[in-house]
Amino acid sequence: MLRQTPAGLRRRSTVWLACLIVIAVNAAWVWHSLDTLVAEKEPVKQAHLKLRSSSILLENLLEAEISLRGYLLTGDQHFLRDYHGALAMLRQLRQEVMRQMSSHPAHAARVPDLELAIDDKLNELDEKMTLYAGGEHAAALAKVAEGQGPRRMEKVRTLLNDYRTAEQAILDTHFSIQAAAVRHAYLTFAISTFISVVLVALVAWLVRSTAQRNAEAEAELQSRNAELRQALDRAARQSEHSHALSELGRFMQSSRDLDEAMALLNHYLPTVFDASSGALYLTASSRNQLRLACQWGNRMHEEFFEPGDCWGLRRGQPYDQPEVAGPTCCGHLHPQDVADSRCLPITAHGEVIGLITLHGCSATGLHAESHMAQTLEQVALSIGNLQLRETLRQQSVRDALTGLFNRRYLEESLARECALAQRKGQSIAVFMIDVDHFKQFNDRHGHEAGDTVLRAVGRLLREHARESDIAARYGGEEFTLVLSEAEREVALARAETLRTAVEALELSFHGSALGSITISTGIALYPQQGRTPSELMQAADQALYAAKRNGRNQARLAGQSEPIAA
Ligand code: GH3
Ligand code: MG
Ligand code: MG
Repeated sequence: MLRQTPAGLRRRSTVWLACLIVIAVNAAWVWHSLDTLVAEKEPVKQAHLKLRSSSILLENLLEAEISLRGYLLTGDQHFLRDYHGALAMLRQLRQEVMRQMSSHPAHAARVPDLELAIDDKLNELDEKMTLYAGGEHAAALAKVAEGQGPRRMEKVRTLLNDYRTAEQAILDTHFSIQAAAVRHAYLTFAISTFISVVLVALVAWLVRSTAQRNAEAEAELQSRNAELRQALDRAARQSEHSHALSELGRFMQSSRDLDEAMALLNHYLPTVFDASSGALYLTASSRNQLRLACQWGNRMHEEFFEPGDCWGLRRGQPYDQPEVAGPTCCGHLHPQDVADSRCLPITAHGEVIGLITLHGCSATGLHAESHMAQTLEQVALSIGNLQLRETLRQQSVRDALTGLFNRRYLEESLARECALAQRKGQSIAVFMIDVDHFKQFNDRHGHEAGDTVLRAVGRLLREHARESDIAARYGGEEFTLVLSEAEREVALARAETLRTAVEALELSFHGSALGSITISTGIALYPQQGRTPSELMQAADQALYAAKRNGRNQARLAGQSEPIAA
């Protein structure tokens, strides 16, 4: 994973700063070198001018002397013209040379001597010219013959040569400085070219590495974005699952019975378990088989199977089916369905209460596993709680020995039945049933055998009751049967059927026959014998007593003096 660390950024900034400093120093150095070269140009030029003007000054002085001499000897006017031309040029140059000499401290001291020597020379020339012009040709020529002219000329030449020698030395110094500056400029050029190449390479490297880093950062950003998107998708899916799971929990808590709960599970399980197909099995109360409670998707599931057919149930933990069918595949699955299936045992309150089979689970990985475990736990808890609630409810309304409704439930239900019958104008029949001489039976065969009889009578009552009827154990060896919407004839016929069925029971206990038993039944009809539960129960009870008093093993309608005819 690549990232721009603060240290990396600092290092790159330092490199950029160093580059800028090197460029600035290099530029200053090159500038200084060129400046030195340019600065030396002017002194050299000035020295050349000085040498040239001093040389011309001397030439003109010589020209003036030679021209004058020629004129004095020949009288040729050409010489006179040259003389005056040289003097004019000399005067002009003299000022120039004096100014140049005065401007330099080293030569300023020579100026008075040179001025004097030139003046001397010019006075001498002027004197000769004056004599010649005054017609004294001989005197003028005698002055020439004196030989003072060359001496004065030599003095001027000597003074000018000294000046020129000194100026030449200055020029040489400037030449050597200029030569050093040129060498320096070449060296500067070479070094700065080298530095430039290095800098260009460094900058290229920096630009390239920056571009590379930017590209890597961009790629990293994109991969982070993709991860973020995936995480958001996952979170959204989880939130959907969690929402469905908690909704399922809430609905399960409020569901009336297991049937309603199964409908809820059928609706929510495909969402909470991210699987295309699956089934929920519940352990039967006998514990020896699992019954299909609900399923979704397009796979077929067995209606029943034994716990031993599932490796998940046998091992007590989630079981992923192998890729290919074999001995390690669960027997309850169809061979073509095993490949992508898993079995998840459902455990609640320390007991295995069922199994969930899933096919084509889309999510994998640790997170999916923990989510699956959490979902399974929630589903197990919901089903377990519901079953517990159902058991407690059954226990509160059912009689433990016979499985019939208990007296409390009977009284509540009878009141409801009476209200319903009144509203609809229907009739109800209430049977009060009592086992004859049950005390004697108990005494003869024992209490446990007596319980067997009570269970058998209870079973018979259930068998002879319709869905809408209420079969209850009133207490001891007394039972109550409420027949809703039962007319008189139907009720009497049912009582007689029941009586003969009990009489026909062949009971045995621990292998020995218990002999036959009989029941007596008192019948009360709504609304004839009563309109309230207590009136009906009382009437039925009185009829029962009448049946007992008149020989037992008979059914009697309240208010009738005769038993029901067989
Ligand atoms: P009758 O024909 O007059 O009804 O005589 P009976 O002996 O059946 O009546 P009685 O009321 O004298 O005796 C009822 C007996 O039922 C007494 C009691 O021991 C027995 N009994 C009550 N509840 C149970 C029970 O749950 N199990 C067993 N085994 N016996 C019970
Ligand atoms: Mg009794
Ligand atoms: Mg009895």
